[in-house]
Amino acid sequence: MASSLRILVTGGAGFIGSHLCERLLDQGHEVLCVDNFYTGRRGNVAHLLNNPRFELMRHDVNFPLYVEIDRVFNLACPASPVHYQNDPVQTTKTNVIGAINMLGLAKRKRARILQASTSEVYGDPEIHPQTEGYWGNVNPIGPRACYDEGKRCAETLFFDYQRQYDIKIKVARIFNTYGPKMHPDDGRVVSNFICQALRGQDITIYGDGTQTRSFCYVDDLVDGLMRFMDSPDELIGPLNLGNPGEYTMLELAQAVIRLTGSTSRIVNKPLPADDPKQRRPDITRAWDALGWEPTVTLEEGLAKTVDYFRTVC
Ligand code: NAD
Ligand code: UDP
Ligand code: UDP
Repeated sequence: MASSLRILVTGGAGFIGSHLCERLLDQGHEVLCVDNFYTGRRGNVAHLLNNPRFELMRHDVNFPLYVEIDRVFNLACPASPVHYQNDPVQTTKTNVIGAINMLGLAKRKRARILQASTSEVYGDPEIHPQTEGYWGNVNPIGPRACYDEGKRCAETLFFDYQRQYDIKIKVARIFNTYGPKMHPDDGRVVSNFICQALRGQDITIYGDGTQTRSFCYVDDLVDGLMRFMDSPDELIGPLNLGNPGEYTMLELAQAVIRLTGSTSRIVNKPLPADDPKQRRPDITRAWDALGWEPTVTLEEGLAKTVDYFRTVC
């Protein structure tokens, strides 16, 4: 383990960020959590506020940030299609201007910086499973583009800052991640299905439910992010982090109904524009470089997530 460092987590009050802050504190680091609470909540980190090594700052990464830190995890950006499409211009700005500011900060401090990129850079993929060498199939003008192209441009900025200024970068391409502390009204499929099942409401499958996703439990993902950050300078990515188990949305709905014992019916709603038809990470590179692979099965992870949502739905 690295000795105690000052670590900035942008988007630290969000779903993944709050788990990451907790784990970094457990490792003995000082954590500065920066968030504008667009989709994140103070409540996600309320239990950390008494820790003298934790600091919470309300700040929008679209504005410069001058702080003294050793490392940056750049997670600030809404992740659910419902939220990132609500204010698409702001989403692109956060991805691009936010990245420039955090890279400028990393440059000034000579700090190592990790970018939370996404499987969405592959768009509606024509290669299956997706390897890091695949350049993707993204509609640049569709409703998802603010997120997909914003994240792609952020990757470009990371690699250019690395080449131009020798910044120590890490680019992680995160695949669908779920777990406790997802917002109940987040709009993503796992939180939607579980809340609908617990409330006895119809479970809404968009399209015919044959589209696939691969779901990674948040503890596994955070473990991957931390190992990546601690890895040698030469390992810059991009690196896929996700669980290769692949499920149709119909299979996911059935698993949620089974685990909750719900009497909810499954109903079909229109498929949103540009919704990717299939998605599964090839994680060979993460395994070879970090010895990392997920350990939590979908059944186990969903059971823990259902327990959490029973308290908030
Ligand atoms: P989330 O919406 O719960 O968290 C994002 C956080 O960023 C929130 O706390 C939000 O308030 C904050 N934020 C948004 N815009 C900001 C801004 N301009 N300034 C400061 N803070 C801002 O989402 P998440 O699932 O925790 O995702 C975290 C990161 O991981 C995101 O960058 C997302 O793109 C990436 N990611 C997530 C997934 C997933 O399945 N959860 C998959 C791929 C990539
Ligand atoms: N920046 C920041 N914090 C810092 C250093 C820089 O937010 O500690 C911002 C700064 O406002 C700038 C951006 O990062 O707009 C990019 O910085 P860089 O040094 O690459 O560019 P320049 O300052 O030359 O425009
Ligand atoms: N989805 C669904 N019902 C919902 C929410 C989402 O069938 O209530 C589908 C969505 O159309 C997509 C998949 O589930 O095919 C994953 O959606 P999510 O928004 O969680 O993530 P992303 O599309 O960004 O992978």
